[in-house]
Amino acid sequence: MAEVTLDELVKEFEDVVAVDHVSLDIPDESFTVLVGPSGCGKTTTLRLVAGLERATDGLVSIGGEVVNDRRAYERDIAMVFQNYALYPHKTVEENMRFGLEQQGTDEEVIEERVAEAAELLQIGELLDRRPSELSGGQQQRVALGRAIVRDPDVFLMDEPLSNLDAKLRVQMRAELNKLHDELDTTTVYVTHDQIEAMTLADQIAVMDAGEIQQVGPPTFVYANPRNMFVADFLGSPSMNFLEGDLRRGDAGLVVDYGTFEHDVSEAHRSKVEHRVGERLVLGVRPENVGVAEEGYPATVEVVEPQGEKTVLELTVGEDRTIHASVEPDVDVSVGEEVRVAFDRSKLHYFDPGTGESLT
Ligand code: ATP
Repeated sequence: MAEVTLDELVKEFEDVVAVDHVSLDIPDESFTVLVGPSGCGKTTTLRLVAGLERATDGLVSIGGEVVNDRRAYERDIAMVFQNYALYPHKTVEENMRFGLEQQGTDEEVIEERVAEAAELLQIGELLDRRPSELSGGQQQRVALGRAIVRDPDVFLMDEPLSNLDAKLRVQMRAELNKLHDELDTTTVYVTHDQIEAMTLADQIAVMDAGEIQQVGPPTFVYANPRNMFVADFLGSPSMNFLEGDLRRGDAGLVVDYGTFEHDVSEAHRSKVEHRVGERLVLGVRPENVGVAEEGYPATVEVVEPQGEKTVLELTVGEDRTIHASVEPDVDVSVGEEVRVAFDRSKLHYFDPGTGESLT
């Protein structure tokens, strides 16, 4: 078993609290992604698991054993970094063998593991080359190979795809998925790229300012963000937020945005009712905004075809800007007056003060 547990983990650098009481269970064989904006503490958290930083407070356990006092080489982990960190003067094969040789592994085992990893990563024909003779994608595969041959309990990966171009990144993402399916090694993966996080993870931990904001399966977190930070961070374009006043209308509750208003659905009523008379933020994802026969009057400001979808920027109620992701063949043009409707089953309500979800 190689589950990783972080218990109230803290890391301070002089006046910066990089990791602020982080608790997280990373199940055995899971692919857990730490995701968040630059500086939120992802890398520091990973380095604490690796043993490259010492915790100011809290515990790191691997396989049920507290490892705070174990050095990096005494932890059964293998790291893959964004800059590959291959030895430039060694061949691919030598790069892959090196860690095992250092550990005093039997020659037979080394040969077997290198051959297996080379086959898995399809780099068999590159074994005699040096890193400078490889493309970025090939170098990244070698870096993965070097981690795989170690057969560790845990893989730790820090933005391993960020130096690759967009197309190769998508391809390597698929390969990482496949690799994880085959090896089932517990993996902790750091990225600031929410799409990478959504596609790779079976568990994501969204971080901000040294703290974990939410943990869960990516589709669950996407559909049920706990607060406005998580709602905003996951998804592109981001969730639309509209702040208004909650009041009683003729037939129930309405949110009044000044120039337009909408009825709170039956399903949400009990969750927001106690806030009548207060400000409220409605959240609606662009894919849940549609151009319809009936709805709020809106003006099309920007039409951005993106291939599989078209993103519209619209002004609703004179002064609110929202985005809609619609079918690519939508027939609207800039300046046109249209009507927009929200998918009522996919709305979120937030407290404007704390940002916490009310739904
Ligand atoms: P990025 O995506 O930019 O790599 P990150 O989420 O991985 O960011 P960290 O690198 O963990 O963030 O940094 C978290 C905070 O700790 C930042 O404010 C950073 O400046 C600070 N920090 C990280 N390492 C050190 C260090 N060795 N000394 C001082 N401050 C540090």
